Amino acid sequence: MLKICNVSKSFNGVKILDGVSIDVEAHSVVGLAGPSGSGKSTLLRCTQKLETPDGGAIEYDCKVGFMFQDFQLFPHMTVLQNLVYAPALKAGPDKRKQCIDKARSILKDLGMEGKALEYPRTLSGGQKQRAALARSLMIDPDALLCDEPTSGLDIATITDVVTLLQSVNKLGVTIVAASHDLDFLTQISDKIALLRGGKIVTEINPKQREDPIGYLKGYYG
Ligand code: ADP
Ligand code: MG
Repeated sequence: MLKICNVSKSFNGVKILDGVSIDVEAHSVVGLAGPSGSGKSTLLRCTQKLETPDGGAIEYDCKVGFMFQDFQLFPHMTVLQNLVYAPALKAGPDKRKQCIDKARSILKDLGMEGKALEYPRTLSGGQKQRAALARSLMIDPDALLCDEPTSGLDIATITDVVTLLQSVNKLGVTIVAASHDLDFLTQISDKIALLRGGKIVTEINPKQREDPIGYLKGYYG
């Protein structure tokens, strides 16, 4: 459903991605591991067309949503406004009511209906994460790219994020999650690809390994 083929990208003459290929199967969860600075965010940004690769291709025939690393909620808008703003602009004024109904329904699914009229600053980290996830679900994505979905969250909240992403995946949404958190990636992923020195150095199914974290850590060095 999403094919990353031989993608390269340099910044200021430094090769960050050097022929990266990943095959993402429909309905799967793919984890993108790798040390800080290994190019995980750059690869997701290329997939979302926020950066242009220097070489290679990223192909998909479906709607791809994106959840940003630091949530990127608009601080001057309520949670509901955050969800409705872009879709309502696109759909036009006569569809605004429909957008609001949809936003409320998604917030309800994520246990956030009570927070619809709150501003982001009043939310906990986990609630911000849910609001960001709710907003990215507004376009009915077939696939969702998540950049460091657990960063800044405590362990209990990370468990919630695992459950949330799994439930979104069960609804049929393919997930690609970039994270430095191997424990998190091992819990959610059907496949983990490890990026290092611009290349995918290993690819594993963590469910078929006795000690996937130990194995992956061996590549960090
Ligand atoms: P990761 O998400 O794995 O931590 P990033 O993709 O954020 O890695 O960054 C990889 C490298 O590319 C870093 O050294 C970063 O400084 C550099 N980089 C990322 N985006 C840019 C940019 N727009 N301009 C210059 N350098 C960048
Ligand atoms: Mg990153």
